[in-house]
Amino acid sequence: MRNNTVIDVVIIGGGIAGLWTLARIRQAGYQAVLFEAEHLGCVQSGASQGIIHGGTKYALTGKLTHSAQSLQQMPQRWKDCLDGQGEVDLRQAKKLSKYQYLWSNKSMASRITGFFASKVMTSRMQHLQKKDFSAPFDQTDFNGELYRLDEPVLDIQSVIEAIREQFSDFIFQREVKGITEVSSDNYQINFSEQALNKTHRLSAKTLILTAGAGNEKLLAGLNYSQPKMQRRPLLMPMLKAKKNILPKMYAHCLGASALPRMTITSHSLSADQTVWYLGGEIAEQGVGRTIEEQVKCAKKELQNLMPWMDFSQCQWSALAIDRAEPKIADGSRPVEPAVFRKNQLITAWPVKLAMTPIMVDKIIDELEAAGIEKNAQSLPLDDKDSGLMPKAQTSQLPWEKVQLWL
Ligand SMILES: Cc1cc2nc3c(=O)[nH]c(=O)nc-3n(C[C@H](O)[C@H](O)[C@H](O)COP(=O)(O)OP(=O)(O)OC[C@H]3O[C@@H](n4cnc5c(N)ncnc54)[C@H](O)[C@@H]3O)c2cc1C
Repeated sequence: MRNNTVIDVVIIGGGIAGLWTLARIRQAGYQAVLFEAEHLGCVQSGASQGIIHGGTKYALTGKLTHSAQSLQQMPQRWKDCLDGQGEVDLRQAKKLSKYQYLWSNKSMASRITGFFASKVMTSRMQHLQKKDFSAPFDQTDFNGELYRLDEPVLDIQSVIEAIREQFSDFIFQREVKGITEVSSDNYQINFSEQALNKTHRLSAKTLILTAGAGNEKLLAGLNYSQPKMQRRPLLMPMLKAKKNILPKMYAHCLGASALPRMTITSHSLSADQTVWYLGGEIAEQGVGRTIEEQVKCAKKELQNLMPWMDFSQCQWSALAIDRAEPKIADGSRPVEPAVFRKNQLITAWPVKLAMTPIMVDKIIDELEAAGIEKNAQSLPLDDKDSGLMPKAQTSQLPWEKVQLWL
């Protein structure tokens, strides 16, 4: 890279937010590159359950909340991308499941049935008859209700890889240590180590921070007091076993609140091993427990919810991870993606993976409002420099990184 390289748009952070932004804005004609500190998707995105919500899960209080409404279009937008008809080409990405399921035990059943019969929900939800139940609900001991929701679950690693492959020339592995605001349209990017000689500089005319929890540190380094961020921690249990013990399932167990008591997604660990990854109340309530304590609680809860199953052959672990979001005064969950702009510095959090397309719409509106040029010129990074600045690769998934299963 030459001294004082200036790039029109620099994106910091290679989770789903940064990658989707890169894809959309490069396609729109902006000159842009992305820097990722480690591996693409290595924090929240790769740890997500891959559920593309259309809001139904949040509508369980009995009405379509604001959050549910803004999510409604998302499954179709993502499906268009998977079919090659959407804003980002995801034809190489994989769907784990076309549907999500909702199940309730007997005591919840009447309330749920009444609600789903309402006209708000009938178009999106199908009440299944016993003869249509598949594993693990096809057992006589299961006496609850089962609903099928037309909202997909995606293999997020393959989504990230699909975007990486298309834009790999513009995605570099390098931690941004800090930013110096030289002027309102000149942001000097400071890296953790210099690949080239000490006099080398890289600047951005426009900067987009999509570094998840990393946004907080980057903003603090600039002495920006806004926007503020919050973390909502989770301790996600996971269990692995042979495929015949853990059938593939993508289901929310309904509890007394709008938050599912447990959300189970399944992922292949090897040709003959499946992982169940557990979210919902169990992951929120587990914060503060040790991994051993959380495993004990998860075993008990899973056995309560699915008494007909035998988990004795499973091995267990848990992942501690924070959701990073814009700050809400009472610490509650934000309902929509957040995009803030000060001069030519944009900070964004999608809040939900599913809502990333809405977040990027807002970023593009901001680029247009700021009058950022669409620059057809090639990138001022030559081959030699690209070689010195390594290309970022896609991360392993959390269960692939577990060192010790209990
Ligand atoms: C356990 C869990 C399950 C979830 N499940 C779902 C789900 O099923 N459906 C759904 O819609 N949403 C889900 N979410 C929410 C969703 O995962 C997040 O909203 C989304 O992934 C956030 O993406 P992001 O790109 O903003 O952040 P991240 O994925 O965290 O990416 C930020 C990236 O920035 C990089 N970075 C940080 N600092 C720097 C720096 N200084 N320089 C360079 N790079 C930097 C990091 O290494 C990281 O790769 C879940 C979240 C969690 C935690």
